[in-house]
Amino acid sequence: MHVVVIGGGPAGMMAAGQAALAGADVTLCEKNQRLGKKLAITGKGRGNVTNAAEIKELIQQYPGNGSFLYGPLYRFTNDDLRQFLLDLGVPTVVERGGRVFPQSQKAQDVVEALSRWLRKVGVKVLLGKQVTRLLVTERGMIEGVICAGEKLAADAVVLATGGASYPATGSTGDGYRLAQEVGHTIVTPRPALVPLETKESWVRELTGVALKNVTATLTVEGRVVAEEFGEMLFTHYGVSGPIILTISRAAVEALMKKKKPMLHLNLKPALTREQLDARLLRDFKKNIRKQFKNSLNDLLPQRLIETIIMLSGISPDLPVHQISKDQREALLTTLTDLRLQIKSPRSLREAIVTAGGVAVKEIHPTNMASKLVGGLYFAGEVIDIDGNTGGYNLQAAFSTGFVAGLSAALQA
Ligand SMILES: Cc1cc2nc3c(=O)[nH]c(=O)nc-3n(C[C@H](O)[C@H](O)[C@H](O)COP(=O)(O)OP(=O)(O)OC[C@H]3O[C@@H](n4cnc5c(N)ncnc54)[C@H](O)[C@@H]3O)c2cc1C
Repeated sequence: MHVVVIGGGPAGMMAAGQAALAGADVTLCEKNQRLGKKLAITGKGRGNVTNAAEIKELIQQYPGNGSFLYGPLYRFTNDDLRQFLLDLGVPTVVERGGRVFPQSQKAQDVVEALSRWLRKVGVKVLLGKQVTRLLVTERGMIEGVICAGEKLAADAVVLATGGASYPATGSTGDGYRLAQEVGHTIVTPRPALVPLETKESWVRELTGVALKNVTATLTVEGRVVAEEFGEMLFTHYGVSGPIILTISRAAVEALMKKKKPMLHLNLKPALTREQLDARLLRDFKKNIRKQFKNSLNDLLPQRLIETIIMLSGISPDLPVHQISKDQREALLTTLTDLRLQIKSPRSLREAIVTAGGVAVKEIHPTNMASKLVGGLYFAGEVIDIDGNTGGYNLQAAFSTGFVAGLSAALQA
């Protein structure tokens, strides 16, 4: 049994190693000169490899086709992944929010451990070799691939070419074309976990300002479609940071439907409006002899004050004792419902993951086999699945890679 795996990311490496362990003769084609280029930069180089949550909770974290992952996630769980990495000499630790990282805090250690493992189990790794075509017989069976211009015969092929985001890492969307050419449907690839551009240009003044413990609520035509609490960042074009990335998927969906998503920021979500009003009154009392612009230092980060004052519509030079109740109400609204109209997502190049990909309805969830082409299997982000931040995307890549590799090696 000869298995060819296309793509040396986490999904492809896992698939190749498992297929070899199951007795197959395995060749892995990676178009970069090294394996796991994207894996090495995950989690800001620390590699958030999975999440320690219960599997049922884990599945909730895939807004893109989570239920499809039910089988693979149970076949190769987050605990299995941690044990697997431990066996390869990479112990892991659990951090805030259940995020699992290598104890060394180096994603590169995972890449190196996987590379060593592939050598150990006898996978033939071809670097700098791009696959440009899948070869399928007239009867719809895979018979090989064209890799760097040459035919490589195969009884089974695992397509693990990743998505189309961060193309400099090698994930340039090749797999979509390869799958489409043999009859598969591609759900339009689009950015997920992506920074958002806003209509308001005042954000530019706040470039680099990071906020903690804020709530971001996304509404579409007045209806709440996503809400997250945590950290965010202003950029020269709009907003980014963990909570923005998480709600971005819903924003992209709305924009694709030509709707206008609105972001509402609550800068003080721990306080009710009444509590915040009381807090303002206390601060104003303390600063009674000052101008408005000098009264918010205890409440807000310095760099935010000028913008909040501008948005509140209150003159910055107004003496604090002259601020009316209506003006205070306006300020309260600015602080608790700061609105930003979302204009567009940043491009797919800047997205952490790609939503869309090979349609899951054409893949058997039990073994990752194509329902259209005999001997073809899929693993990782090339499939129309995407998860939130927190280690879910790598877990999906490893779990689907595990199942695809094993199934490819054991196919009848
Ligand atoms: C900046 C950043 C940070 C991230 N951080 C995290 C994180 O901390 N936790 C998490 O869970 N997820 C994270 N992700 C997402 C995660 O990295 C991906 O979901 C995951 O790498 C997908 O794995 P994959 O094996 O399917 O694809 P990839 O990792 O994209 O690997 C695909 C491989 O296939 C190769 N390839 C493509 N086409 C061909 C071809 N025609 N021939 C041969 N080879 C080919 C590519 O060169 C590439 O090496 C992050 C993503 C980015 C961009």
